Amino acid sequence: MKGVFALLLATSLLSACSSSQTAAPAASSASSHSTTVETTTSSAPPTQTGQQSPPDVAPEHAIRAVRAIEVRFSKLDPRLADGIRAVSGIESTVRCWTKPGWKRLEKIMHRSLSGLADTGVYEIHLHPFACQGVRFLLAGNQPESGDEALFVAEGLVVLTHEGTHFTSAGSNEAVVECRAMQNAHLVAARLGIDEDYARHLARLYWEQAYPRNDPVYGSPECRDGGIMDVNPDSSDWP
Ligand SMILES: [Zn+2]
Repeated sequence: MKGVFALLLATSLLSACSSSQTAAPAASSASSHSTTVETTTSSAPPTQTGQQSPPDVAPEHAIRAVRAIEVRFSKLDPRLADGIRAVSGIESTVRCWTKPGWKRLEKIMHRSLSGLADTGVYEIHLHPFACQGVRFLLAGNQPESGDEALFVAEGLVVLTHEGTHFTSAGSNEAVVECRAMQNAHLVAARLGIDEDYARHLARLYWEQAYPRNDPVYGSPECRDGGIMDVNPDSSDWP
């Protein structure tokens, strides 16, 4: 429990940082060229207010550098890989990184990130906080409110966001982020997490973490009835 709370605090700081200074996405990703790295983030690189987040396009040499250190600094998580199939529909791998490893990855990418999707090899890289959040849910915990609930909500949406990069949403960060928030309950259900509870987490995310002011990851069309509403006939949101 102590560990989780420590992480919660760390994440809150990250979020505060990104939303106030940057409007960073909670999950981002890079775009996609044929080989590309998709990224997610709850902590985008600090930029000045009003400036646009940098595009998440990772140069090929950066992707190779990440792949070169992944075995040393991360572990495969087959459970999360199975969960993400609920939205991606394909086989992919999910790697949970160590904190020191993630620092190296961020250095390679020249930005703070919560996740990264390597569309060249269908591999998802996750910040330690995202893995810890989802695993906390897998252990049967269901925090309803406060920092702990927001923490697990962000972890679930980050995972979903990265998997969404393997879909037709491709490299459009705003679409990926909006769909991830709306479909996170599907990933949760596949992981054996109560679906109604996961919808509650998605609402929390919408209220407190959705990067609505970020010109790359947020969009005014991400709303009930907006063009990014995946269930336009329903008034449920997200
Ligand atoms: Zn993304």
